[in-house]
Amino acid sequence: MDVALATAWLRAAADSVTAEAELLTQLDSRIGDGDHGVNMRRGFTAVAAALDGAELTEVGAVFVRAGSTLISKVGGASGPLYGSAFRAFGKALPPGPSAGPADLVGALHAGLEAIRKLGGAQPGDKTIVDAYQPALTAFEEAVAGGAALPEAAAGAARAAGDGARATTPLTARKGRASYLGERSAGHQDPGATSTWLIFQALADVTAP
Ligand code: ADP
Ligand code: MG
Repeated sequence: MDVALATAWLRAAADSVTAEAELLTQLDSRIGDGDHGVNMRRGFTAVAAALDGAELTEVGAVFVRAGSTLISKVGGASGPLYGSAFRAFGKALPPGPSAGPADLVGALHAGLEAIRKLGGAQPGDKTIVDAYQPALTAFEEAVAGGAALPEAAAGAARAAGDGARATTPLTARKGRASYLGERSAGHQDPGATSTWLIFQALADVTAP
């Protein structure tokens, strides 16, 4: 992954969360405060704008810039969580203009670690983690089996989608949805859904 591909991924993620903003907001209005679509659209639109003409030469710097932008532009829980994840992801990449699949595995671990450190969520708590964790596992297993980036990204996107759908019966234990207790069950988690969109964007921009 080079600077151009990293930028293309984040632009595709911005397009996707913008196209699906209504869905994300609808999901969040069932178990939260109905702002997840607005938060994601605002944050990723700002990321795309920050990368326009940024002329970054290191691939990691693209993600650090994206993460800092999300932290500064999004007020909801998701801004600091995604922002910290992208910052950690970028910082974990080796210096230089590009990174290979094994580097991306390490960076994905660092991103998830940042989310868990900041938010304290475990798998099964009905959060971003429930899409991210299976996506990371699928990506890592694909790379260990010799897959190139497009195949690993496609597997990660499928696993993230499955993980997001699997949040529906869960009771939320973190974030605003946890205030609902058992009434949060029966609705798909908005943050796990946006995580799926972000992994799907990577699969789309790397697809042969
Ligand atoms: P807010 O909850 O502040 O309105 P958003 O609506 O933008 O923020 O984001 C809500 C999403 O954030 C939830 O659906 C959930 O996936 C995710 N989330 C909330 N708290 C946590 C946490 N502690 N760890 C991981 N993800 C979380
Ligand atoms: Mg919300």
